[in-house]
Amino acid sequence: MGDRSTIFALSSAPGRAAIAVVRVSGPCAGAVIDQMAPPRPIDRMTGVRRIRHPESGETLDQGLVIWFAGPKTDTNEDIAEFHVHGGSAIVRSVLSAIACLPGCRLAEPGEFTRRAFEHGKIDLAQAEARADLVDAETEAQRRQALRQMSGALSSLYDAWRSKLIEAASLAEAAIDFSDEADVANVAFERARGLTAKLRPAIAAHLDDGNRGEILREGFRVVLTGAPNVGKSSLLNALARRDAAIVSEEAGTTRDVIEVRLDLEGLPIVISDTAGIREANGPVEREGVRRTLARARDAELVIWLSDARVSESKPPPEIAYRGESVLHVENKIDLVDARRTCCGQLAVSAKTGAGIDGLSERLAKLAGERIGVFEAPPITQARYREHLSTCLEAIDTFLSSAPEDVELRAEDLRRATQALGRITGRVDVEDLLDNIFGRFCIGK
Ligand code: GDP
Repeated sequence: MGDRSTIFALSSAPGRAAIAVVRVSGPCAGAVIDQMAPPRPIDRMTGVRRIRHPESGETLDQGLVIWFAGPKTDTNEDIAEFHVHGGSAIVRSVLSAIACLPGCRLAEPGEFTRRAFEHGKIDLAQAEARADLVDAETEAQRRQALRQMSGALSSLYDAWRSKLIEAASLAEAAIDFSDEADVANVAFERARGLTAKLRPAIAAHLDDGNRGEILREGFRVVLTGAPNVGKSSLLNALARRDAAIVSEEAGTTRDVIEVRLDLEGLPIVISDTAGIREANGPVEREGVRRTLARARDAELVIWLSDARVSESKPPPEIAYRGESVLHVENKIDLVDARRTCCGQLAVSAKTGAGIDGLSERLAKLAGERIGVFEAPPITQARYREHLSTCLEAIDTFLSSAPEDVELRAEDLRRATQALGRITGRVDVEDLLDNIFGRFCIGK
């Protein structure tokens, strides 16, 4: 907080495009327009302007300029936007021109949103939902992020937190009146009553089967099977389909190949792994180890077999998962049609036969796992952690003896604090770099 510099960044996607948006926020935003694209439009109006370099006067582009006077803006500060032609040379020249102006510097990742948070425009859960909304690849993800951004989760936590604050102040009152036993007892029992009522709601929220997190990150499916059964071919067959989400994430290298699918609005992440068999040598052993580790974390494991091989059973490390293993036979184009009858899913990665049926089954399984929820679910591991701390503190409070009233008041403070860290109502300075550092620049 307290950084009064003016920040700027390319807020649209990098690369070649029809239009690029450069955003400037801070006390010098107005001066940037005055010096590069005068005259400054009326507040919240656009103007077509010649955009010039402030020192050389050279015209860099012609574009739209929008002026938003603070504090009724997203960041609470003055904001200027330049909509220029989306060529990389133009964007670069505009950015370096702004950088010449005093008090202006390039924004850090997530810094616009961070300013919105620090100025109290949005809370931390809403800020994180903004990042989720930008990352949303499917309808269900978009809906979940939008809901959280509009404050559904925050109001739930805030409501719980104010109940806990009430309980904590009753517990404090019990301490203050400890020489008047009657008053102290009444206050204490009320604190206890309030907390006991809250407990099941928080516990039920925590016991949500990770649905919100699965929706946010994708329903993970791992393809396993012996070498050469056609795992890579199946992944390719799936990747070529309409449902495949082709997202270009610069700089992400993965040791496992993944395909992201949008099946009926649900995100499904299928990964191909090393074939499972008796390993020859350390490299292969490591491959098998990684496959099994990945399979352990996945929501579903596909055990793929060659339709020509009559008995193919997954190893115990996979079979133990029971219902969350889906048996699929591949290469049905190579066998007599009558043989593929036993209720198992049968496909041909080569001809595409049965692939639609497999997609439908995956969508159904993901839908069952994620479900539809009335109340907003937990979307991040961070929230789960704070909620568990909160619940633990509540349980300690509810289970210790009334004589320990001072300790018990402390438990309630701890519970309140934990909830406050989710939305950033309490000091969360230590979390911010980590949270906003994961945003992209210009957000
Ligand atoms: P992986 O080791 O399990 O990943 O198997 P691959 O995808 O590399 O496939 C092994 C071999 O089986 C390759 O020669 C593929 O062309 C072939 N193959 C894969 N799927 C099919 C299929 O459905 N039908 C036929 N006829 N061949 C297939």
